[in-house]
Amino acid sequence: MNLPFQNKLMVLFIFLLLGLLLIQGYLIYFFKKSFFFSSSVSLLIILCLAYLLVRILTQRIQKIREMARRLVAGGLEREIHIFSNDEWGEIAKAVDEMKIRLREKIEEVSRERDYLQTILKGMTEGVLVVDERGRILMVNDAFQKILSLSLEVLDRAPLEAIRNTELEEAIREAIQQGKNRAFELTFPLTGGKTLEVNVVGISPSYEESGKEGEKKRGAIAVFHDISRLKQLEKIRQDFVANVSHELRTPLTTIKGYAETLLEGALKEDIALQFVQVIKRHTDRLTKIVEDLLMLSRIETKEFQLKTEVISLPNFIDDILEFVREPAEKKKISLSRNEIPSSLAVLADRSYLEQILINLLDNAIKYTPEGGKVMVLAAEKDSKDIEFSVEDNGIGIPREDLSRIFERFYRVDKGRSKELGGTGLGLSIVKHLVQTHGGQVWVESQLGKGSTFYFNLPKHSTNISPNNAA
Ligand code: ADP
Repeated sequence: MNLPFQNKLMVLFIFLLLGLLLIQGYLIYFFKKSFFFSSSVSLLIILCLAYLLVRILTQRIQKIREMARRLVAGGLEREIHIFSNDEWGEIAKAVDEMKIRLREKIEEVSRERDYLQTILKGMTEGVLVVDERGRILMVNDAFQKILSLSLEVLDRAPLEAIRNTELEEAIREAIQQGKNRAFELTFPLTGGKTLEVNVVGISPSYEESGKEGEKKRGAIAVFHDISRLKQLEKIRQDFVANVSHELRTPLTTIKGYAETLLEGALKEDIALQFVQVIKRHTDRLTKIVEDLLMLSRIETKEFQLKTEVISLPNFIDDILEFVREPAEKKKISLSRNEIPSSLAVLADRSYLEQILINLLDNAIKYTPEGGKVMVLAAEKDSKDIEFSVEDNGIGIPREDLSRIFERFYRVDKGRSKELGGTGLGLSIVKHLVQTHGGQVWVESQLGKGSTFYFNLPKHSTNISPNNAA
C-alpha cells in the first residue's frame, strides 16, 4: 500500500493501540489476569514491537545519512541497499541517482579540465588568467617562457610579475568595465620582444560573454610573440628599400645619358662615351637582377642540389684558371695548397663553382696590385672538408664582420660599386653553403687581408677517376 508517511505512522499507531487492547483483553478474558497485570504485559509487548519497528526505520535513516556524508566527502562508489518501495526506498534511490549524475558531471568536468590543460600546454601563446580581485589565478608554460619568468606568479598582481602598467590597466578595465583590449607591448626585460596582447573579461555566465560595461568575474590575457614577424617585416622593408635604391641609381644614370643623347648629343664625339656609360650601367642592372633571381631561387622550397662526388685538386685548378685573367691584370698571384688526389667533396658542381668564384672574385677585387690570393682545401674531421680563400688585401673592419653576409651590405659602398659589385655576392655564398649543410665565416684584419672559410660534407670512399673533374 503506497500511503504518505504521516498516514502510515497514523495507521501504525492505530494498529499498535488495537494490538495493545487486544492483548490486554485476551489476558483478562482467557487467563483471568488482573487489569493492571494485563495492561503492563501488553504495554511491554507493544513497546518491544514499537522498538523493533523504530530500529528498522532508524537503520535505513542511518544508511542514508552515512551515504550523504560519504557524498559530501567525495565518495561516489557504493550504493545504498534499501529494498523497499516506501519513502525510505525512494530517498535511497534518489540519493543513488544523484550520486550517478554527480559522478557523470564530475567525469565531464575533469575531462573538460584535461582538454583545457592539454590545449593550454600545447599553445605557443602565453595565457594569463586573473580573478575578480585582479590576482593571478593561472598561467601556462608558454607565458612563463615568453616572458622569461622563473618566479612563482600565482596569487600576485600582474604588475608584480610583469612590471607593465599598460597591461595592469587593461586587466583592470576588463574586470571593472568589461572592456576588451588588444595592443602591442615591447618588453625590455625580455630582450625587446614584441608581444601582441589581447585582454578580455570573464563573464559570470557563458551567455553573457562579450557584453561590455559590466563588472566581470576576472580576465584572461593572451600573449602572442610577434618579434619574429616584426623582424621579418623589417627585413622585407629594408630589402625592398635596398633593391629600389640599387636599381634606381643605374636607371637614373641610363635615363640621364639617353636623354642627353636625344637632346642632340648623338651627333657629337662624346656620344660613344655616353653609350659606353649606358652599357656599363645596363650590365650592372643585369648583374643585380641576376643575383636577386639567384637568391630567390635558392630560397624557394623547390630548390634542389644535384650533388655529385667532386675530386678537389682538379676542380680547384679549373676554378683558378677561370679567374686568372682579372688576377693577372692586377698582377695578383693565385695559388692553392697541396691537396691529396683522393680528397673529394659531395656537392653540386655548378654551385660550388659559384661559391668559390664569388669568394675569389672578391679577394681579387679587394686586394691591391701585386697581392696574393690562395685557395686551401683540407680535411677538417671525419665528416667535413674545410675550404678557405685567403688574401692579403685591404681587410674588413672588425665592426663590419658580423654584417658582411647580409644582402646589399658593403663596407665601402663607393669602392664596391666602382668595382662592379652588387653587394649580394657573399649573401649568395652563405645561402649556397648552408643549402649544402655547411657553414661560412670570415676572419680579417684591416690592412692585412681576409680569409673566408666554409665547410662541406666530405665524400668518404675513394672515388673513381671517371667522377673526377
Ligand atoms: P660586393 O658585390 O660589394 O663585393 P659582396 O656581398 O661580395 O658584395 O661583399 C660584401 C662586402 O664585403 C663588399 O662590399 C666588401 O666591402 C666586403 N668584402 C668582401 N670580400 C672581401 C675581401 N676579400 N676583402 C675585403 N673586403 C671584402
